[in-house]
Amino acid sequence: MAELNLILMGPPGAGKGTQAERLVIDFDLPYYATGDILRAAISEGTELGKRAQPIVEAGDLVPDELMIGVIMERIDTPEAEDGFILDGFPRTIPQAEALDEALDRRGRALTAALLINAPGEEVIRRLSGRRICAKSGHVYHVEFDPPKNDEVCDQDGSRLIQRDDDKPETIEKRLAVYREQTTPLIDWYDERGLLRRFDGTRTPEEVHSHIRATLATLALEAEL
Ligand SMILES: [Zn+2]
Repeated sequence: MAELNLILMGPPGAGKGTQAERLVIDFDLPYYATGDILRAAISEGTELGKRAQPIVEAGDLVPDELMIGVIMERIDTPEAEDGFILDGFPRTIPQAEALDEALDRRGRALTAALLINAPGEEVIRRLSGRRICAKSGHVYHVEFDPPKNDEVCDQDGSRLIQRDDDKPETIEKRLAVYREQTTPLIDWYDERGLLRRFDGTRTPEEVHSHIRATLATLALEAEL
């Protein structure tokens, strides 16, 4: 079986997390959300975790070189020898180049950059419809999973609220940041023939089967 060394990209609300969960099961790959593995390295007290700890605690950005080190610590473990799914890194072209070089030194290479895309209005429709019950955090969606009575939790009758993070203006700001950061990176992977695009406005099942078919083809091509 050829390696599946993947990075996952896409705006918030396009369904990246859902697809990652399914890919982990389908292909038995470890999933590395960079925030999570950084926290794990710190709590496990690895050498790089110890270097990162004061930087993270000060609220500063971990330098690329250190972040690459933390990621490669994971990629070098036996669980990732057949591949991995990396989410949240790279975010910039220099980071992508550094990842490329680190993989190349190990005789490995990225298989594909999977982009799950959705237009801004769809992302806003999905994310801004969320309502949370003020008492116990039960989650609803005005369109996809509405409560029986407007603004009231079915389970405990408490008031439903919209979190600040789910307000359209907040989502638009996050999307603008995402686009500014990611567009050059998408082009960079596209120029290298590594980008695979998926339509995040389709149902999760449709997106999933499209990704599976694409990865099966890539794995076959790699074996030829
Ligand atoms: Zn509730």
